[in-house]
Amino acid sequence: MRVMFICESCGDSTILNDHTICPICNSKLTKVGFIDGHKLTNLNGEQKIQWLENKLGHPLSDEMNNLREEYYKKKRLEREKQKEEEQRRREEEKIAYELKILSGKGLSNVPKCPVCGSTRLKKITLTTRAVKTAAFGTIGAIDDAGKTYKCENCGSKF
Ligand SMILES: [Zn+2]
Ligand SMILES: [Zn+2]
Repeated sequence: MRVMFICESCGDSTILNDHTICPICNSKLTKVGFIDGHKLTNLNGEQKIQWLENKLGHPLSDEMNNLREEYYKKKRLEREKQKEEEQRRREEEKIAYELKILSGKGLSNVPKCPVCGSTRLKKITLTTRAVKTAAFGTIGAIDDAGKTYKCENCGSKF
């Protein structure tokens, strides 16, 4: 269960599963009761510190306040960097997708066998027809007439 923890050293408060060491100052964290936790969630950062200082009965040291602020500044920067990277990644994906569509359009111009869909086609050259005409007479030539490709896969001509 996720519980609100506070750090009595640096004033940090976070909702965690079972983390008991403060990520900011490495002090042991204090678990906050349900009601206090609920109260804390509705307070802003400054109010949280005030609440804690009241509870502790003394103000937090400047050193700890700075440490905490530095920590959150770093976190914020990390988050921003992550966001930027995420955006860049998405843009790259978009470009890759568009390129895929473009090359897909290019591919549709590549002839395909109407029988088996294979692109392993052999162009029937004039020489082949000429050879066939010589070997089989006009019958062989008619067979190939108007057909440009032979499928290497299934052997159909079209
Ligand atoms: Zn701390
Ligand atoms: Zn085929």
